[in-house]
Amino acid sequence: MADGHAVKLTEEIVYYWPNKMGRMFLLALEDVMGESGVKAVLNLAGLSHRVGSCPTNDLELGFGFDELSQIMQALEDMYGPRSGRRLAYRAGRAGFKYGLKDFGALLGLADLAFRLLPLAMKLKVGLDAIADTFNNFTDQRVRVEEETSHFVYMVERCPLCWGRRSNVPCCSAAVGLLQEATSWVSRGKRFDIKEAGCIAMGHSQCTFVVGKQPVDELPQTEIAPSE
Ligand SMILES: [Zn+2]
Repeated sequence: MADGHAVKLTEEIVYYWPNKMGRMFLLALEDVMGESGVKAVLNLAGLSHRVGSCPTNDLELGFGFDELSQIMQALEDMYGPRSGRRLAYRAGRAGFKYGLKDFGALLGLADLAFRLLPLAMKLKVGLDAIADTFNNFTDQRVRVEEETSHFVYMVERCPLCWGRRSNVPCCSAAVGLLQEATSWVSRGKRFDIKEAGCIAMGHSQCTFVVGKQPVDELPQTEIAPSE
């Protein structure tokens, strides 16, 4: 039992993305819902200080996990859970192009050697590269495991559902990111990707299952395939 000296008890650990990623995320959100949509969501999320003031384009850890999850919650509150998650998914897809521009070359994804790899290997390298990016530049923790028919992409400390409670998986922005990433590495294919477990549902991690076999072509967005 606490003895009354509650100094340590109130200490809160705060986790962050770098400003640059928060910036990418807000730009992606603007791509799918427009400037006024983003403004309304930020206001509803209690983040009015972010309105018209995009995070700076640097790697300093300044975009809080709580901010991301409040935005995700606000999307669902504003548009209803299904449509809100759909918008988050689309923002995740759009966000990939910003990430690719800034981190892709760094990770060797544009190299000729990468382009010559067999498909399953490309998926593996691509998913590992995304995991490495989050592990190296953010407080988010990601692991990727390979099974016979699919990959498992696991997120501990997930900013999308940070502090949230939900009856269904709610980190659809990550599904969108993975959908676009796997489409990019495969030059337009669509893979079956599902969030199979979510911290907001009481699970120990957010778990995304990524099928190895393409099921279809992914409908085009504003993102052009690699040259
Ligand atoms: Zn999550």
